[in-house]
Amino acid sequence: MKINSAEIVISAAKPHQFPAGPFPEVALSGRSNVGKSSFINTVLGRKSLARTSQRPGKTQTLNFYFINERFHFVDVPGYGYAKVSKSEREAWGKVMEVYFQEREQLKGVVQLIDIRHKPTEDDTMMYDWLKYHEHPVIIIATKADKVPRGKWDKHVKIIKEHLNMDPNDKVVVFSSETGAGKDKAWKEMENLLFS
Ligand code: GDP
Repeated sequence: MKINSAEIVISAAKPHQFPAGPFPEVALSGRSNVGKSSFINTVLGRKSLARTSQRPGKTQTLNFYFINERFHFVDVPGYGYAKVSKSEREAWGKVMEVYFQEREQLKGVVQLIDIRHKPTEDDTMMYDWLKYHEHPVIIIATKADKVPRGKWDKHVKIIKEHLNMDPNDKVVVFSSETGAGKDKAWKEMENLLFS
């Protein structure tokens, strides 16, 4: 995919701020530090459009990026932070629920998982929740440069087994250091966005 334009449209803290309009979108989700910002910047060919992990305590937002005036990427805050208050967590949970349950423009979700480790409980919960809402999911196995190529298949198998993955969902082995998996990631995302 050739990227002609990519810009942040809004950091939405509430559902009424989600952009209206017909454009399809994919959401991107993963544990803090999994490499989500790096993935976004790499596939868009931008150095620092997506910012590294939001600090704990900062307002949680869904960040909408408008790409090629044709579709949106929606950056979902990294899960796995325990440092927000219970009331904040509940309020944010409601925003997420509305988004994943009701957003018609949402065509599928990219969930990022570190290729080196078996999925955590949070990863599994997120995946199960996405499947409960019947979203197609692309698993991006990040930081592939940290595992020898000959072992990629073994790590992918572990991820598939631990998530009990839907056979329709795809796994893409990816590295933002080397660019490995970039074309395949686009192919899978375009499939969701435009078919
Ligand atoms: P986020 O919190 O999920 O947005 O993660 P970031 O994209 O900020 O990445 C977290 C850390 O992992 C940073 O130090 C990145 O440089 C590093 N990182 C991200 N992707 C890769 C990768 O593909 N390979 C390697 N070796 N490091 C990566």
